[in-house]
Amino acid sequence: MSSEIKSRVRCDIDLDAPGRQAGYLRAPLSRNTSGWGTVEIPIVSVKNGSGPRILFTGGVHGDEYEGQIAISRLARTLDPATVQGQVIMIPAVNMPAVMNDTRLSPVDNRDMNRCFPGNPRGTFSEMLAHFIDAIVLPHVDVSIDLHTCGHSGDAALSTNMHYVSDKAMREKTMAAAAAFGAPYNVVFWGVDEGATLTSAVERRGILSLGTELGGWGRVNVEGVRIADRGLQNIMRHFGLIVGEPETRQKDGAAATRHMMVRDQAGYSFAPSGGLFEPRNVVGDDCRAGAKL
Ligand SMILES: [Zn+2]
Repeated sequence: MSSEIKSRVRCDIDLDAPGRQAGYLRAPLSRNTSGWGTVEIPIVSVKNGSGPRILFTGGVHGDEYEGQIAISRLARTLDPATVQGQVIMIPAVNMPAVMNDTRLSPVDNRDMNRCFPGNPRGTFSEMLAHFIDAIVLPHVDVSIDLHTCGHSGDAALSTNMHYVSDKAMREKTMAAAAAFGAPYNVVFWGVDEGATLTSAVERRGILSLGTELGGWGRVNVEGVRIADRGLQNIMRHFGLIVGEPETRQKDGAAATRHMMVRDQAGYSFAPSGGLFEPRNVVGDDCRAGAKL
């Protein structure tokens, strides 16, 4: 290592140790009532034998609950004796935003998912992003980051991924998405890319899969079910636990439907402020040019 500080965030578990390790990331946050205060962010590692290393993250945005619920549940229950490989779980990455029930961090008013690869000397969100990128990602082969649309919208229950240029990685990611087993998988072109966790994961050559499992700032019950099942399915798919992924859909379909957002034409932005009246619910079929 150079003389550059590696991170200001302290991790009190050993990410290389076998068995179940549960502890906290301790991120320094000086405030009026605590000059040397820290924010504690739970982290659990379950490792046994050799096999793929998977990272499950939730709560990068604080008002997105399904991933937080599913990853917390898995972190409490996953038995190392049943695992071949390693699962690192951080159910509430952006703890200040989680406690504040907001997308942005109340500490620095930043969207953590626009702060990657981060900066160890930067704002609180930048410091956290740097820790995830520089310290956690080198320990994993696969990153599954669970999101919903929070208060900013709604989404058909789906996984999502970039159309990564490397064909082999694209096919591996498509296969992982199919194994996750959400009703849809969206292969998308991003509006504002480069500073997301997904982009940071891809820059490191690691398989990246995201989700949108609800929205409107509430807990989507079916989204939680898909999240719980998806985490198990991913561990099965990569051979960490025994069994085949269960991908049957509620409507009887046997598998995930793959969709694609090819370019900017896939987006429609409001030209001005006002009251938005949706004419469809997420997942409805619609035609180009039709009133949404
Ligand atoms: Zn999100």
